[in-house]
Amino acid sequence: MRQVPHPYAASMTFHRGRFAPSPSGRLHFGSLVAALGSWLFARADNGEWLVRIEDFDRERVVPGAADDILATLHAFGFDSDRPVIHQSERDEVYRAALRRLEDAGQVYPCWCSRADLAAFGGIHPQNCIARPDPARAPAWRLRVPDESIAFLDAVQGEQRQDLRREVGDFVVWRVEKTVAYQLAVVVDDAAQGITAVVRGADLLDSTPRQILLQRLLDLPRLQYAHLPLALGADGRKLSKHELALPVDGDDPLPALRAALRFLGQPLPPARNVRDLLSAALEEFDAGRIPCAPSAPAPFAALRKDVC
Ligand code: GLU
Repeated sequence: MRQVPHPYAASMTFHRGRFAPSPSGRLHFGSLVAALGSWLFARADNGEWLVRIEDFDRERVVPGAADDILATLHAFGFDSDRPVIHQSERDEVYRAALRRLEDAGQVYPCWCSRADLAAFGGIHPQNCIARPDPARAPAWRLRVPDESIAFLDAVQGEQRQDLRREVGDFVVWRVEKTVAYQLAVVVDDAAQGITAVVRGADLLDSTPRQILLQRLLDLPRLQYAHLPLALGADGRKLSKHELALPVDGDDPLPALRAALRFLGQPLPPARNVRDLLSAALEEFDAGRIPCAPSAPAPFAALRKDVC
């Protein structure tokens, strides 16, 4: 008798990763590392790799940056397997998630200012401590339970965070009447059927908040891998605002080699991006990714084919 696979069997083990840049500037080395790392994890599992543009925060969006990022990703050999989604077009979905949390009594309106919170060391207590002001839109905060959230990160190892003591009740809807990052990411990862989140370690401490939101919204729990942060030569984090090391889509090989080396992977000889990516995939070993932040090798040193 032939065994017919259960229709859900594939989706239970299927890997779907994503890269979710905020279009606040050009693609940087740190973002290239996240794109490459998430792509390698997904492809090594024969999975899909998706792109999502995180542009809900209109004040931070630089006009043209999203298209520029997508074009640069393409030059580096990374194309989304499904249509790219934009958070700026998904307000209704986020509002529905907020309503659901509200109906379950899990969020409350909050008028607290930063100054109000200073007295609590920036950690919000379990109630709004400011006077309600009907003339001003509130933020909405999630009531966090008194528990530690633990997860196993594929690169950083065992993680645990006591939400009430280390984070406090956090904002899921902002005073500006837009979704907050934590809620948008959770809603979108689920909507896109993402199974594994591979991103920079600067977001490691957001993950327990996202795991909590997944639980409260009855969404699947994901796997996580947080890649080491790329530091500037001065030891500070690279960020898009500093415009340090923007990557050049017209000359992708040196930066791609630097990103592979940064992730602890061997550098197979290759003459073009496609060959380099497929050779890197053959040799990809997640166990070689370092967890500690470091400064990338200068691109110029990696200009030659064999290093
Ligand atoms: N949009 C975030 C960034 O560009 C990444 C969010 C995520 O990967 O969860 O830093």
